[in-house]
Amino acid sequence: MNDLSWIPALTKLLGKATVSVAEDARREHGGDAWFAHAMPDAVVTPRTVSAVQKLMRFCHARRIPVTPRGAGRGYVGGCVPVAGGVSLSLKKLNRIRAINAADSVATVEPGVITSDLQSAVKKLGLFYPPDPASARESSIGGNLATNAGGPRCLKYGVTRNYALGLDIVLVDGRLVHCGGRAHKNKLGFNLADLFIGSEGMLGVIVGATLRLIPLPPARAVLVANFARAPQAAAAVNAIIRAGFLPAALEVADQFTLAAARAHRPGAPAGDALLLVEIDGQKKSVAGETRALEKILRDCRALTVSKALTDAAAEQLWNIRRDFSHALKATGLAKLNEDIVVPRGKLVDLFNFAEKLQKKFTVNVACFGHAGDGNIHVNLMVPPADARAANSRRALNALFKQILAWRGSITGEHGIGLAKKPWWPLATDRDLRALHQTVKRALDPRGILNPGKFLG
Ligand SMILES: Cc1cc2nc3c(=O)[nH]c(=O)nc-3n(C[C@H](O)[C@H](O)[C@H](O)COP(=O)(O)OP(=O)(O)OC[C@H]3O[C@@H](n4cnc5c(N)ncnc54)[C@H](O)[C@@H]3O)c2cc1C
Repeated sequence: MNDLSWIPALTKLLGKATVSVAEDARREHGGDAWFAHAMPDAVVTPRTVSAVQKLMRFCHARRIPVTPRGAGRGYVGGCVPVAGGVSLSLKKLNRIRAINAADSVATVEPGVITSDLQSAVKKLGLFYPPDPASARESSIGGNLATNAGGPRCLKYGVTRNYALGLDIVLVDGRLVHCGGRAHKNKLGFNLADLFIGSEGMLGVIVGATLRLIPLPPARAVLVANFARAPQAAAAVNAIIRAGFLPAALEVADQFTLAAARAHRPGAPAGDALLLVEIDGQKKSVAGETRALEKILRDCRALTVSKALTDAAAEQLWNIRRDFSHALKATGLAKLNEDIVVPRGKLVDLFNFAEKLQKKFTVNVACFGHAGDGNIHVNLMVPPADARAANSRRALNALFKQILAWRGSITGEHGIGLAKKPWWPLATDRDLRALHQTVKRALDPRGILNPGKFLG
């Protein structure tokens, strides 16, 4: 039984509207989009940065665990408060403070939902490219803390590439500003980068200044069907070798497409799909569309269709963004991996996934950001088998092969709890020790998001 004697003092400090110990609130803050669940002792939902500072000072002095939480849509159990203590929800720090078109920056609080920022800047002819498929559900703070990727990373890069400055509340309550609002900045170490992707284990992101770019005036999406997924993967390499850098190159396999059709009318036909998005000036988009269609047909696409308006393109992306939900709607448990291979190994990866399926008699659904070599290889198993030995063995085989190809076991979701067992396999001793050194320097009492891959 946890010692909860600190809760009245915390409630007195921050107020009843900010601190909740209600069972439903604690339950709601116990999980994310993965399987793990653990109840916090209290949920704290501050509306100001100074309340976050007070909370951290309080918890640091008493060694109470604090697990930051954005929108709770992570895929690795990162915001699951396994050590109890406080779930620090940033959802009410959710204001877009300013969008400055002249400077091409936006300053935001961490709880802003990603697609809300994208829509707000779009109205001003500006573009915030990071686009995790969860953009309508996840928060900017969560995107920063996981360094989220998404389909458009191929051309535009990941969340890290758009963070000019971060406001961080350190574990003892001090507020530091890393970076700034200038588009270039070489003042000291790039400490903002240390917090990006740190999964809530080094500090609390309470504000961000983000880089914006001009909104491309035109876009088009080509959708090509292939007989098998490895052929779609081969077309990815052909497109890039031909000198094109599309905004997105997304692949989906047979299982994923069948689930998408069952879930939502209008999902594409076929057994293997490649979705190619190009954007830019109107004339260049038209020219590239023609050239890419020819490449796709040369790569033995069975059909190629085109969406040439913003609305038609968005309709296709809505279906693509729904792939995860469609797979979940099958009723099977989705062991969602987000491995990355060097792009030259993409065809090998799809062939390997087919073998994995046969060897372990599990369904494998692959889709994702093929242009980056970042594929969601989902093991689809009956819910009772989610933690069974066979599933674990299949994941082991997958990760070992990925590491043998010098890929990574996670390209965007992070480690959290889901990948924790494979952290030692994917890293060497010196790298793990360096992580511990950084963690100890910033969180000597080990209260920030404990129980994850640094213990
Ligand atoms: C349907 C679906 C599709 C997805 N598609 C993608 C995709 O294409 N690309 C991709 O990268 N991810 C994707 N994800 C995973 C997920 O959405 C991202 O990891 C996202 O960045 C999580 O944001 P969140 O606000 O939900 O964070 P949470 O789940 O609340 O937290 C994630 C981690 O960040 C930490 N954290 C959150 N906020 C802060 C803060 N302010 N300060 C410090 N630490 C903080 C938490 O402690 C935790 O470790 C998808 C998820 C779903 C459900």
